[in-house]
Amino acid sequence: MPKINEHFTRLSKSYLFVEIAKRVRMWEEAHSDTEIIKLGIGDVTRPLPPSAIQALHGATDEMADPARFRGYGPEQGYDFLRNAIVAHDYEPRGVTISAEDIFVSDGSKCDTGNFQELFAVDQTVAVPDPVYPVYVDTNIMAGRHDRIVYMKGTPDNGFVSPPPNEHVDLLYLCFPNNPTGATATRSQLEQYVQYALDHDALILFYAAYVEFIRDPDIPRSIFEIPGAERCAVEFRSFSKTAGFTGLRCAYTVIPPTVTATDSTGTTYSVRDLWARRHSTKFNGASYPVQRAAAAVYSPQGAVEIRELADYYLGNAEIIRQGIDSLGFDSVGGTNSPYIWVNAGRPSWDFFDEILNRTGVVITPGAGFGAGGEGFIRISAFNDREKVKVAMDRIKKYL
Ligand code: PLP
Repeated sequence: MPKINEHFTRLSKSYLFVEIAKRVRMWEEAHSDTEIIKLGIGDVTRPLPPSAIQALHGATDEMADPARFRGYGPEQGYDFLRNAIVAHDYEPRGVTISAEDIFVSDGSKCDTGNFQELFAVDQTVAVPDPVYPVYVDTNIMAGRHDRIVYMKGTPDNGFVSPPPNEHVDLLYLCFPNNPTGATATRSQLEQYVQYALDHDALILFYAAYVEFIRDPDIPRSIFEIPGAERCAVEFRSFSKTAGFTGLRCAYTVIPPTVTATDSTGTTYSVRDLWARRHSTKFNGASYPVQRAAAAVYSPQGAVEIRELADYYLGNAEIIRQGIDSLGFDSVGGTNSPYIWVNAGRPSWDFFDEILNRTGVVITPGAGFGAGGEGFIRISAFNDREKVKVAMDRIKKYL
């Protein structure tokens, strides 16, 4: 019999969404007359922007035409999309990134999960706590279970922990943050970049929620911080920006100046390593999907995705105000679609209380690691009417 990778046995049971589903099912069976409202999972509910739909139809027609049919595309992504990303996401922010630095993929869950493969097993990794579980689990799978340092987010630091006190080699950051909704100021990002430069560390910066940033002083990219081009890579996704969770498109940005060494001290370009990995294990995101992604950079597409984010931000505001009026402390909900609430009790107890009294589903913070215990995450991804009803119920029955 083949032997397993025993690092998998060190993973904690992934019971969060299974356990939520079980409790929701039981509640539904007992309350068939009341509609359950889900503000738990961070998945979008609005349809794709019309320009993306139009581009998908156009690309499908091309695929049906022998003269315009396309098979395998470039593994790193089509130029039309990579050039649009540079021109719209980076150039206007004064960031020098070239199309060669962009790697298009079918989602940033895979990108953030796979990136650690480039590095030695003995490298130490800092992750936020609470944390998007993929950062932790993929490092455990790789054998780094005893090399993970937790950067504790607390109400005192506004859920933006300072850089670690000790040396680490890789640092995962996510702003605007999932699950807390916290955003980092320019000076906080400068501290991380300084830390990375001082420690020869690499920042893995997840920036998929940038479309929700409305405050002009909050940086939208780690590359807006001088020096980051030598010590950071950035992951972005069309999932939340343009409602692509079911369509799947994302990209990773690696400047040519980001380097790493082997055990002999020889220096390697991280961009070249990722290009090798990407082209070996991935055959490109689909052509129609890349056309749809490029369409959101058209003038009309840009208006549509802003409206989409505004819609969810409007929901977030209703949730934030409701939670405020009940006297709970929270972060997020502005410049972010998540509201992170101090429950003042174990997070599963609060989950049950809200579900049983109101029929509203939220996410217990404990599902995001030890630092999430005592908190809950409320997601603004739902229809406006449902959000209003959910908050009315919570205000009335809690
Ligand atoms: N990373 C974080 C922190 C997320 O919040 C999400 C989506 O919720 C993802 C990755 C997954 O993104 P994608 O849909 O591009 O795989």
